[in-house]
Amino acid sequence: MIEIKTNRRVELIDITERVKKIVERSDVEDGIVVIYTRHTTTAVIINENERGLMEDVIVTLERLIPTQAGYLHDRIDDNADSHLRSILLGNSVVIPITNGKLDLGTWQRIIFVELDGPRNRRVVVKVVPC
Ligand code: ZN
Repeated sequence: MIEIKTNRRVELIDITERVKKIVERSDVEDGIVVIYTRHTTTAVIINENERGLMEDVIVTLERLIPTQAGYLHDRIDDNADSHLRSILLGNSVVIPITNGKLDLGTWQRIIFVELDGPRNRRVVVKVVPC
């Protein structure tokens, strides 16, 4: 489990090092790790943690799923855009573990996406030998 305190409504947070520590502590040599967010207004993605790209993601989400565009859910809870963005991005990723290490590509990072912050969030990290 990883606890994350977010500071903005939409924010991307690199959690790669925290996942790495959990995988290393598990002593699993070969397997998979599942990183899963239990919230309906967050997401987990794998991509490059480059400052410009992180900003591009936020701008693109706003372009694809604008805030307050007449969504029905906004009548009862003013965050339909957050839910829809979460659905678009997905709530989990799976990464192979090879020789006790995360088998990520050179530029790949694990990024938690806050879509309705600021809040305290929890991400489940399950290491599965196989
Ligand atoms: Zn809602």
